[in-house]
Amino acid sequence: MTRPASIPLPLTSLDALERAGLTDPAERAVLDAVAAEFRVRISPAMAEVASDGVRAQFVPDARELQVVPEELADPIGDDAHRSVPGLTHRYPDRAILHATQTCEVYCRFCFRRETVGESGTLAEVEFDRVVDYLRRTPAVREVIFTGGDPLVLSARRLGAMLDRLEALGTMDLVRFHTRVPVVAPEKVSGALVAALDRALPVWLVVHTNHPDEMTGAAAAALRRLNRAGVPLLSQTVLLRGVNADADTLERLFRVLIRNRVKPYYLHHPDLAKGTGHFRVTLEEGQAIMAALRGRLTGIAQPLYVLDIPGGHGKVPVGPGYLRREGDHWVVTDPQGCEHSYRDL
Ligand code: SF4
Repeated sequence: MTRPASIPLPLTSLDALERAGLTDPAERAVLDAVAAEFRVRISPAMAEVASDGVRAQFVPDARELQVVPEELADPIGDDAHRSVPGLTHRYPDRAILHATQTCEVYCRFCFRRETVGESGTLAEVEFDRVVDYLRRTPAVREVIFTGGDPLVLSARRLGAMLDRLEALGTMDLVRFHTRVPVVAPEKVSGALVAALDRALPVWLVVHTNHPDEMTGAAAAALRRLNRAGVPLLSQTVLLRGVNADADTLERLFRVLIRNRVKPYYLHHPDLAKGTGHFRVTLEEGQAIMAALRGRLTGIAQPLYVLDIPGGHGKVPVGPGYLRREGDHWVVTDPQGCEHSYRDL
């Protein structure tokens, strides 16, 4: 497929994707059915990246219509732990703030794909209730802004929300989970950076899945955040057809540490509806992580985790390097050789 010189951006409809040469007109009927179920949006920056691993994350696919009974509308149980509208309080010391349902891209594997794009931004009155809840619950020492993508909000609104959380005096830190620095780096403006640069530590977890996403503009956006003293971590979803091999993940994690981003989580894919074609097995994921151990500096190694379906929390899922045998342990080294270890 050839791409015309001028592309209307962002791409928010199948017409736009077709004009950009990203979808096949012969598939239009089935893709209409996909788009009726799950929203479509590709940011200008990502539409420009000619990479199969990047396109597969954003371009709708007929296989999304294949839904199996085990797939869930709310795979990680956001609703089961909703304390007040807009706030999920699952663990004692931290809570998730659903600041907006909007994103710069709509990812085909998203675990919130049934809600993203739906009801816009948390209203002021709802945020008032969230602040009241946090004031009454000082055990919550960390608020995690998520969405959608919280960095689609204006710098003014984010700054005002952070001011109120900071004023509570109970927070250790605030964390943002976002795709924006990578998929829409132009949004990391001076005003946004200034809103995040404050006495209350603001940590930022960048969601990125493929090394080709890291454009020059993305690297520059991360540098602006880094210069403002915002600690940068990353989260990646393990996805068949995108990054489910040790070579691609090694490239991704190396490019992240070169950009001062510490790889934090590698997520086993969630049981979101219509995402079976992305799914790998836990055994495959463990084999990839084992291959990376030893060949990649520890700073670049994320924790491989599974969000237990139904809202039961997130746990590391290996691979394991230790097993008990009688009165001693057997430890496996990165090359697969076993060694005995005894507790003294
Ligand atoms: S919430 Fe994150 S993963 Fe889901 S569509 Fe938005 S940017 Fe993509």
